[in-house]
Amino acid sequence: MAKRRRFLALLSTTLCSTALLAGCLGNPPSSTSGSGSSGSSTAAPAASNTNLEVKSISLGFIPILEAAPLVIGVEKGFFARHGLDVKLTKQANWGAARDNVVLGSAGGGIDGGQWQLPMPQMISEGAITNGKKVPMVVLAMLMSQGNGIAAANSVKDGNLSVDLKTSSPGFFDRFNQKQGRKFRAAYTFPKANQEIWIRYWLAAAGVNPDKAVELLKVPAPETLQGMKNGTMEAFSTGDPWPSRIASDKIGYLAATTAQIWKVHPEEYLAVRSDWVDQHPKAAVALLKGLIEAQMWLDKPENKDEAAKILSSRKWYNVPLPVLQESLKGQYKLGASGTPETDPKMGPLYWNSDRGVISYPYKSLTLWFLLESIRWKFFPGTVDTIEQARAINDKVTREDLWRQAAQEVGVPAKDIPSGSSRGKETFFDGIVYDPENPQAYLDSLKIKK
Ligand code: CA
Repeated sequence: MAKRRRFLALLSTTLCSTALLAGCLGNPPSSTSGSGSSGSSTAAPAASNTNLEVKSISLGFIPILEAAPLVIGVEKGFFARHGLDVKLTKQANWGAARDNVVLGSAGGGIDGGQWQLPMPQMISEGAITNGKKVPMVVLAMLMSQGNGIAAANSVKDGNLSVDLKTSSPGFFDRFNQKQGRKFRAAYTFPKANQEIWIRYWLAAAGVNPDKAVELLKVPAPETLQGMKNGTMEAFSTGDPWPSRIASDKIGYLAATTAQIWKVHPEEYLAVRSDWVDQHPKAAVALLKGLIEAQMWLDKPENKDEAAKILSSRKWYNVPLPVLQESLKGQYKLGASGTPETDPKMGPLYWNSDRGVISYPYKSLTLWFLLESIRWKFFPGTVDTIEQARAINDKVTREDLWRQAAQEVGVPAKDIPSGSSRGKETFFDGIVYDPENPQAYLDSLKIKK
């Protein structure tokens, strides 16, 4: 009897998922309207996976677009229908998230959540936790693109753009000479995505980030005020902040990360290894809910509803129009505010020209460790490509994602079988070939 019930439950989940997928992956958006299976109706809790080792997980998030799949997964019931109660807690900042995952949920902290890279790798190695090693597993990419570098109105005449060589030759030398101090560029957490983007952007233009500018850490809540007050001239972060700086007319969007590297890896879902080892079925259930939330978020017709959910006090507490625009990738670029209208340049959650976003390609998670070598971020931990590879192989797991994708009915063609997405090309023509990381490092002119 119990067996039969389980079978029926499984069958209904499968049918439901298949209907959802048909809606998500069908090419013309119009084909989804008649099915009646997309939207909130599919998110009704189903009695599946009642045999999980654990019923809940505690995850942390930072209120930027990268966390949207986690919030949507909770709000639209995608995790619940796979039997998992995801307790999502807003983190005061990235340092607090790190400290909370070291505690673990048993110690009043979190089991995992949203991370910039290489935070999970460096927490695993004890490099950013005072030597305390807390092994973690990177399970999925949460989002691609959707980040940017905002510049203050005080440097509007610098006309900063993605390609500084063309738009702003000699700007930083002139600024430093005129002001008697260095240009200040900020991020909310050091030695991770946001610092890496700003370093890549500057170095590509021949501007040495360790010499020509002052890099500083600013807490996220102080960024709007800081840019207004002149605490910094540039700020690298996830939307909605760059968009908000532009919409509040405090500054302008100098570059989007999508311009720097199309379909680049951004933030990831990572969970403590001990939690995953003890609860492998629940880890797969978590990924199933995440995959469905990412598919839902990627559909143009769901963006307004997503913006409404995220803008609420409970989640981001950010004005609705700012989230609507940033979720759709409707940016105003550069000092002149040129409209960007290509949705492919906005935040991506599922589909892309390079395949599914969510899959945790080792070739992409490795890149953050290569940049760590380039800038000597973690001496003694990541000095060589061999060390980077060893850490990456230990921390990034692709097998659970594949299992979850199969169980949720993702078509085989959308489930990568390997660990490499192939060669990657940056806006300045630099190529990262995962088969030859040394060639990539050698091709970079400015490094530490
Ligand atoms: Ca980010």
